[in-house]
Amino acid sequence: MKRKRRVKIIATLGPSTSTPEQLERLVVAGADVFRINMSHSSHDDMRTYIAALRDLESKYGPIAILADLQGPKLRISSIAEGSIQLERGQTIIFDANHTPGTIDRVGLLHPEIYAAAEPGHTLLIDDGKLHMRVLDARPGRIVAEAITGGVLSSRKGVNLPDAILPLASMTPKDRLDCEAALEAGVDWIAISFVQRVHDVRDVRAIVGDRAAIMAKIERRSAIAEIDEILRESDGVMVARGDLGVEMPLEQVPGLQKQLLRAGRDLGKPVVVATQMLESMTSSPVPTRAEVSDVATAVFEGADAVMLSAESATGAYPVEAVATMDRVAREVEKDVNYESILHFRGTPSDKTAADAISAAAASIAETLKLKAIFCYTATGKTGLRVARQRPAQPIVVLTPVIETARRLNLVWGLHCVQTSDPANTGEMVRGAEEVARASGYADDGDRVLVCAGVPFKRPGSTNMLRIFTIGEDSGKPH
Ligand code: PGA
Ligand code: MN
Repeated sequence: MKRKRRVKIIATLGPSTSTPEQLERLVVAGADVFRINMSHSSHDDMRTYIAALRDLESKYGPIAILADLQGPKLRISSIAEGSIQLERGQTIIFDANHTPGTIDRVGLLHPEIYAAAEPGHTLLIDDGKLHMRVLDARPGRIVAEAITGGVLSSRKGVNLPDAILPLASMTPKDRLDCEAALEAGVDWIAISFVQRVHDVRDVRAIVGDRAAIMAKIERRSAIAEIDEILRESDGVMVARGDLGVEMPLEQVPGLQKQLLRAGRDLGKPVVVATQMLESMTSSPVPTRAEVSDVATAVFEGADAVMLSAESATGAYPVEAVATMDRVAREVEKDVNYESILHFRGTPSDKTAADAISAAAASIAETLKLKAIFCYTATGKTGLRVARQRPAQPIVVLTPVIETARRLNLVWGLHCVQTSDPANTGEMVRGAEEVARASGYADDGDRVLVCAGVPFKRPGSTNMLRIFTIGEDSGKPH
């Protein structure tokens, strides 16, 4: 489906968006990628979503599907009365005891927390609404003082932002979910609460090349290792929900910029996520601040902007996608958009593929070409061209459907599955065909195509050709 926008839109699926008709409405409104949150979706739900989305591909082209693993989310145990009121300055004990909690003590059945907590550490409960400080920590027993008063209720989430927790990146549930998602043919696997690059390696060992891997950046310790994490993952998500609990909220906007720059430098897609249009869960129009937030991410060159509750459980899922689409298109037409996007240079790596990609963008600009076509099996060249953020549409032609689907999450890439050309004549004809069918270029338009010769050998991008649609394809080469 031809979009009039470069940034991609990710819609999280849920009860508000579960029928094939609803999914189709989201695609038509502008959703390019669908996120299945494994915290809330059964394997059957997941398979139903995937089957419906794959059905839509014959009509709308490749769709990217991202399975988001729950990860090691920590929680307190249940409380006898349901909840207790903690006053500021009050102390409470967390212990490994299974009996329901009282005003004196509450169960915290995660041995890893006792191993990592130290006096002075911050302990946050319920998305940071309750702020506590650790006074004493030993195996099976933490004494903490309430810095803010508040209600402590059963099974609320716990964050320990100051510590690196000796937690496996994948829980047993995550392993089962991951395997089921891979079997069902998802394109991306997202890892929650990544702490170290090691976590990405663990998941890579399971996933291999069956899907691309997205590291969700939502822990302080991940920020410290961001370059390594980016290098070993295929993309990252600025997961502002948990990040805003683990880090002071006011640091999140700066971190978003930092992550977007780091991703762009390496040519890895970056997703900006959470609360982008939060008020639209219950209102058909967003707030001014939300529109500004989406616009900022687009100006900053994010690859994708994401909807969570807005599309999964909200009352206006289609309106939320349509709003993102409208905001993005307006920003991309803005007089300042190009200059902000290219404010920082993107120096190329010293590889043939990168030199070709940079040259493609520069030639397209100089000659005011209509579009850039890019043959790629692995998707690498598509990523490198997108990294240049050229003004022309980028059409990715690939014989590998998995590549077309994965790259659908990346800024500016319009992905089409085609056969592998046998020679340059076929290459030109293939690009012409897609140009006409997709509407990105027409007879008489000058375009550019990059590819690897000999064909059918992945990772060999080494040629670039300028031609005019409808004039060149018959000639022998
Ligand atoms: P979640 O991740 O929705 O799975 O918590 C995103 C975030 O934390 O922002
Ligand atoms: Mn999260």
